[in-house]
Order: sequence, then structure tokens, then C-alpha cells
Amino acid sequence: MSLITGKTKLLGVIGDPIEHSLSPVMHNAAIASLGIDYVYLALPVKSADLEVAIAGFAAIGLQGFSVTIPHKQAIIPLLSDVSEIARGVGAVNTVWHTEGGWNGTNTDVEGFIAPLRGYNRDWSQTTALILGYGGAARAVVVGCSQLGCQGIHVVGRNLDKLSQFQQSWVDKSLSTSVTVHPWEELSELIPQVDLVINTTPVGMYPNVEQSPVDAAVWQGLRDGAIAYDLIYTPNPTQFLKQAKEQGAIAIDGLEMLVQQGAAAFKIWLGQTPPVDIMRQSLQQYLGLLP
Ligand code: NAP
Repeated sequence: MSLITGKTKLLGVIGDPIEHSLSPVMHNAAIASLGIDYVYLALPVKSADLEVAIAGFAAIGLQGFSVTIPHKQAIIPLLSDVSEIARGVGAVNTVWHTEGGWNGTNTDVEGFIAPLRGYNRDWSQTTALILGYGGAARAVVVGCSQLGCQGIHVVGRNLDKLSQFQQSWVDKSLSTSVTVHPWEELSELIPQVDLVINTTPVGMYPNVEQSPVDAAVWQGLRDGAIAYDLIYTPNPTQFLKQAKEQGAIAIDGLEMLVQQGAAAFKIWLGQTPPVDIMRQSLQQYLGLLP
């Protein structure tokens, strides 16, 4: 770690709980590799303290911060300016300071899309299926729409929440339509789509044997389909193992984590982030390197 002096500038991540965040690992690795005088810390902030914390951050000259659960929506009214993309998603994950106050955006969309751009596809011929309708699913919907997907189907287990989710896109001028379905329709939908994205926490450590999709349901998956799991531990998840057995291309959640962090780093520091170093630091921390 670089020497912390009286001039060291502060970046951080706010959330509750926050001690499991991987962001300090990758951002401090990036800071060290660039030799810049910054440090990035996990800052625990309870919901009731959010407003006073933001005011305090301005008072102490915090340069910028990441935002995670449960503050991604609640922070919006406390910011001076919110980007169009964050308004579209309905959540902010990156905040930086300007003369006019705190500005916020959402880099999860960019993070989600980044690994998909590596595949040479006609996205206008691609139909996406999203499992779950939580916070991450919102960034995934905007990402699929930005890619120009032909259609977006969302499955969830609660009909009221599904209907609210569909309703929430009505005035957002998405270029792709969003259709919601009860979980029971999953087996009918799988053969009709080219991209299946798990945004539920099912299969995340320590429940590593679980999958949101029953093994038999994968049958009928289209040739060349992509299975994308937002979960990054374990790596691969049961969901990705099953999809691969059916011939799918598998994408895990680590690259999204790295790329959303890299996009935030660029906003705060105005310089090209060392993406390889950030990725390696996480792979090493998670025990994914030999
Ligand atoms: P969230 O807002 O709590 O949403 C979770 C969603 O999963 C909800 O729609 C929930 O539905 C559904 N769900 C939970 N358990 C389920 C089950 N047993 N069966 C079916 N649906 C279930 O969480 P989030 O912030 O969107 O995060 C979701 C996952 O994405 C987490 O694993 C997180 O680590 C991961 N993530 C990864 C990245 C990355 O950079 N790779 C970024 C963000 C999130 P109900 O409301 O019906 O329970």
C-alpha cells in the first residue's frame, strides 16, 4: 500500500452492511498501480444517517464515492444532478463532487454491457430473458435496451412486483419492450431466447448447489445462446454450469463488477483505469488465480 500522508485524498463506498464490499480491493489496487495519492475506504452509513453523511462528506472534501444497498435509490433526492442513465435505471451507484454539489450516475449498465460487447452479435436479433426484478435487473433492462435487443422478457415469483416492474418502464422511453411473466413460464421461454441473465441471488455463496433454473428447464436452449450470471462467487455458479452443459456461452458477474468500478474510477480521477490490475486484484482476493 502507498504511504498515506496529510495530503492523501479520500474515496469510498457507502452501504449497510458494507464490510463485505470488494470495491476497496480493486480500487486500492488501481490507486497503487498508478502511484496516485488516494485511498478508497468502505464507509458504513445507516439509512437514517444518509443525509447527514452526504453533508459531512462535502465538509471533509471526500472526492467521490460508490453507493450500494440500501442507498442506491434513496440518495437520488440528495444529489444536485443525476445523469439521464441513472434516472432511467432509477438508481445511482457512483457519486462525485463538483462546485455545484454532488453529482450521481449509474455505471452498472456500462459494467453489464462490457463483457457482451466482446461477442460479435446482431443484438437486434437477440431476445433477452431476465430472472428477477430487483435493483440489478433494472440496470440489465437498460443495458439490453442500449444494446438494441429485440425484446426483453422478465420472470419473477411475485405477480404484484412483476406488474409494478413492468409499469415502472412505461415513461422511460426504452427502445425495447419489456414483458413480464410468472416464474412458471420459464420452461416455455428458454427455447425462445438468446440471452438468459440471472439477477437473483440464487446460487450465491454459501448456497453454491442452488440454481434459479431447474436442470431440465435448460433443454431446448437455442444454439449460441449466452447465459450470464451477475453472481461472482462461486465462479462458475450452478446456473452457469448447467447452461454450459447445454452448449451455452457462459459469462460470470466478475467482469461486470470490474467494469462498473473502472467506469467510476475514470469519473473520479479523469484517467484511464488499470482494468487488468483491478480484475487481477479481485481474482486474487477471491482465490480464482492459481
Ligand atoms: P435485489 O434488489 O434484492 O433483487 C433480487 C431479486 O431476486 C428480486 O427480484 C427477488 O425477488 C429475486 N429473488 C430472490 N430470491 C429468489 C428466489 N429464491 N427465486 C426467485 N427469485 C428470487 O438484489 P440486486 O441488488 O438486484 O442483486 C441481485 C444479485 O445480483 C446479487 O446476487 C448481487 O450480488 C448481484 N449483483 C452483481 C453485480 C455485479 O457487478 N456483478 C452488480 C449488482 C448485483 P423477490 O422480490 O420476489 O424476492
